[in-house]
Amino acid sequence: DRVPRDPAPEGSAPGDRAPEGRPGVADELAELDKRAIIHPHTTIGAPDEPVIFDRGEGAVLWDVRGESYLDGTCGLWQCPVGHGRPELAEAAAEQIRRLEFYSSFGDYSNEPSIRLAERLLRLAPPGLEKVFFTNGGSEGNETAIKLARLAHHHAGHPERTVILARTGGYHGMAGGSLAATGIDRLREGFGPLLPDVEFLGKPHALHHDTDALVAELEQRIAELGADRIAAFIGEPVLGVGGMVPPPPDYWPRVQEVLRRNDILLVLDEIVTAFGRVGHWFAAEHYGIEPDMVVTAKGLTSGYIPMGAVLVGRRVLDLVDGAWFPHGFTYNGHPVGAAVALANLDILEREDLPRRAKAVGARIMDGLAPLAELDHVREVRGVGLMLGIELDRDAAGVQSGARADGLIVRAAGNNIVISPPLVITDEQADTLVRLVCKHVAAVGN
Ligand code: PLP
Repeated sequence: DRVPRDPAPEGSAPGDRAPEGRPGVADELAELDKRAIIHPHTTIGAPDEPVIFDRGEGAVLWDVRGESYLDGTCGLWQCPVGHGRPELAEAAAEQIRRLEFYSSFGDYSNEPSIRLAERLLRLAPPGLEKVFFTNGGSEGNETAIKLARLAHHHAGHPERTVILARTGGYHGMAGGSLAATGIDRLREGFGPLLPDVEFLGKPHALHHDTDALVAELEQRIAELGADRIAAFIGEPVLGVGGMVPPPPDYWPRVQEVLRRNDILLVLDEIVTAFGRVGHWFAAEHYGIEPDMVVTAKGLTSGYIPMGAVLVGRRVLDLVDGAWFPHGFTYNGHPVGAAVALANLDILEREDLPRRAKAVGARIMDGLAPLAELDHVREVRGVGLMLGIELDRDAAGVQSGARADGLIVRAAGNNIVISPPLVITDEQADTLVRLVCKHVAAVGN
């Protein structure tokens, strides 16, 4: 029962186009969807009424009924360059015509993935020297966890198997990446997960206390024994865990403790890489040099699933000469790599990391007054990763905003705001207006 509205909310549609929907197929598709698809993160057997997207342009999407939506979350953070970029369609089509795919196992390779690896290493923080391509984020974190353990094993320390992770961290839904995900409701019901994952406390947004977080890390290392720990994995800014940026000195101090104890640092930049926090990588923003950086999403802006693990010198030295029995069929996909190269061209040409900083500051200014409301605990963010924490469930903000044609995401008590980096100022102002309206509305 959607609220009827103008198909083009003020300020959200590019130009004056008010596209027609496809009412003839909308009901049929909705019925088929509910009958035939198990959607991720839904209740099996109780499907929701689907919103069936038909097309997109920039920060705007249209569904098959012709309703428009301002994309305030960039889907799942995956689309920095915005929707409907023809040059990415062309890059994919051209590569498919030339060579759609051949395995990268062993000594087989292809030009787009070679060019992409070289380009990523040029953009990456210092010390990262090789690339392992994946199909997405979870696979990247599986790869990093296995590589960290293998590195110590090969270096004569097979007992270094423990992975330190953090409560509230999200690293994916596969075996190892789920084991390192510190959100209980995502872990229940699946039986025993990968052993030797130990959780530290959640870096808490409301009481920034680096001393306490670092003391906890040192204490846990002392309890477990540094000689049992392979790696520490963390997101530069907690995403699913509530858009929580750490205090500015958190990462350099964590890195110092890890280095001192020969523990590898795996930075999960699946959300933060490729401009979202105002730099190519959040590692630059926080001034650290991780041993591995895991990316996905923004690498291709989600036009084709692809990820990349960037591997640093310390890991490479440890695994030098080791056999690496690991890989998934579509790793190093030439079509994904061709799209990624075209996507990086857009990010560079349009200077989108800088745009993220500017428009992020504009949205933050607009949202800041919400902090005065009794039921709002905090408004926070870095670049175009913004969050509002309420003292109550945020689901009503998500549903209210959507009825007005704005997509934002509720994660527990938090509202997640992370639009495409190409969002216009006018669209950003519409986003602010609607978020303020619906945050205020749930306060009553
Ligand atoms: N790590 C982080 C920080 C993420 O936000 C996500 C997905 O949202 C993942 C890992 C998992 O990536 P994927 O869903 O591509 O497997």
